[in-house]
Amino acid sequence: MRRKLLIAFVVLLAIVPQLPVPEFWITQLNYIGMYTLVVLGLVLLTGIAGLTSFGQAAFVGLGAYTAAYLTLTYDVSPWLTIFAGLVVTTFAALVLGWVTLRMSGHFLPLATIAWGLSLYYLLGNMEVLGKYDGLMGVPAIYFFNIELNTGRHFFYLLWVIVVLAAIGMTHLLDSRSGRAIRALKGGVTMAEAMGVNTFRYKVIAFLIAALLASVSGWLFAHFQRSVNPSPFGIKMSIEYLFMAVIGGVGHVWGALAGAALVKVMEDQLQAWLPTLLGASGNYEVIVFGILLVLVLKYARDGVWDFVEQRLPRNVRARDWGDAPRLPESTRPAHGEVVLDVQAVRKEFGGLVAVNDVSFQVRAGEIVGLIGPNGAGKSTTFNLVTGVLRATRGEVRLRGKRIEALRSREIARRGISRTFQHVKMIPTMTVLENVALGAHRRGRGGVVRAMLRLDRDEERRLLREAERQLVRIGLDDHMHELAGNLALGPQRLMEIARALASDPALLLLDEPAAGLRLLEKQALADVLRQLRDEGLSILLVEHDMDLVMGLVDRIVVMEFGTLLIEGTPEQVQASPAVRAAYLGTEH
Ligand code: ADP
Ligand code: MG
Repeated sequence: MRRKLLIAFVVLLAIVPQLPVPEFWITQLNYIGMYTLVVLGLVLLTGIAGLTSFGQAAFVGLGAYTAAYLTLTYDVSPWLTIFAGLVVTTFAALVLGWVTLRMSGHFLPLATIAWGLSLYYLLGNMEVLGKYDGLMGVPAIYFFNIELNTGRHFFYLLWVIVVLAAIGMTHLLDSRSGRAIRALKGGVTMAEAMGVNTFRYKVIAFLIAALLASVSGWLFAHFQRSVNPSPFGIKMSIEYLFMAVIGGVGHVWGALAGAALVKVMEDQLQAWLPTLLGASGNYEVIVFGILLVLVLKYARDGVWDFVEQRLPRNVRARDWGDAPRLPESTRPAHGEVVLDVQAVRKEFGGLVAVNDVSFQVRAGEIVGLIGPNGAGKSTTFNLVTGVLRATRGEVRLRGKRIEALRSREIARRGISRTFQHVKMIPTMTVLENVALGAHRRGRGGVVRAMLRLDRDEERRLLREAERQLVRIGLDDHMHELAGNLALGPQRLMEIARALASDPALLLLDEPAAGLRLLEKQALADVLRQLRDEGLSILLVEHDMDLVMGLVDRIVVMEFGTLLIEGTPEQVQASPAVRAAYLGTEH
């Protein structure tokens, strides 16, 4: 269905210039195509990765001016200036990304505004670039002997690039790198815990968006045959964002829908509003502003979402059944100390959340970590997994110090975890969410993904994801969107995701919360089986029946302090533990 639509769209594009369509509409379609390229980048950057840029028009300008300057001054072929533009853009985007993407929150939008403004004024003040008049007489592109100097000729080059970019983007989103980029939106903690270098993928998303804008600029220069700073200012950057939001910022084809809608509306409004209001001016900006508010309030997912909901969902054909298994790490010998926590302490200001706690977890052992709410259990998890840095103390994984490592480095060394509050990507399928857990076991990069050269590895990753889902009893739901699952299955999905990373130690934070009795029993069976396979498990859980029947040893915490450590029998017999749980003095 979707493939047929795409083919129909391509065929339509191929015949449009042959039809007696007025030149005006060919020109409009060409602008829509150039806008679509830029908005496609914003879909990835803003819609998928959750990062906002107000500087995309400046990247378009970079591509356009590089092309215009090099062709006019040095007579360089346009087929080379496109690469020069990409190099210049890469440099600018990396510098900008490097500086801002490490910082959280509003730094990127602010930095991109500054970047957009400064490039605009720079272009407008440089003598060699013709100041605000710009550069004129940019040559047309030659395709072999055909001079692409009419709208109809140019149309083909442009739309081939647009369609290829959209297909490449679709491929990217459906890959190991794509899952990592999609994981950025929900905050970096979960992605890092799955071994994803989130900074790297932020830079990649930013770079791809900038490069698409740059290609659009190259096309722009050779289509208009002249450049000046005005289409590359902050107003146009905001318009690009507007197109992305109207179109549907989470969907690849929303870029096209948004670019088309805004361009057509803009023309109509520019024609009608001045007559209507009896005065000339850029009144369409006001209408756009009102529309933007309405869209954000009533149709957050944009126009394309309406189309998307009416299309059948792409259920991936199961082509990974015979893919070779991923290599597995060697498990520690039974009884070996896997996790060694030594006098670990965490202070939040004056609050001692974890007070010099020591305990060990051995291979093939399930250890329960229990205690009343606020005892410091989740904080202990965060210290072991590198989400928080310990105030002092040592954590060793199989003898090696890990307390100073980053979360993703710890993940790579074999600790995987689930979260007390489920962290997932609700718009990805269960299978894709679990495959994110196997991220560190793959290599495939962005370019390979776009060119679909990653399929062998992808099949291996998906096979591993499915294997873990079968293990946890969730394979019936693998094609559902994770956000549609009930809380219990979502927790199970997190466990499958953690297992997909091939860990030596599994940290589960309240895995049974929200599970029904039968589901709890099934979970207990799975955990026992994992233990028998040599995995070590550290478990925070409030369901005492489950804990007592499952674990080999228990560590009890209260007010950040280790109260007692022992077998379930010893702990149950302890008056101190009863007092802690019943809240009586002891
Ligand atoms: P548990 O998981 O055992 O219920 P937590 O580890 O979540 O307990 O919390 C232990 C204590 O540390 C609580 O008093 C909590 O309010 C505090 N705490 C946890 N995280 C933070 C934080 N990021 N900043 C300040 N205080 C925190
Ligand atoms: Mg907790």
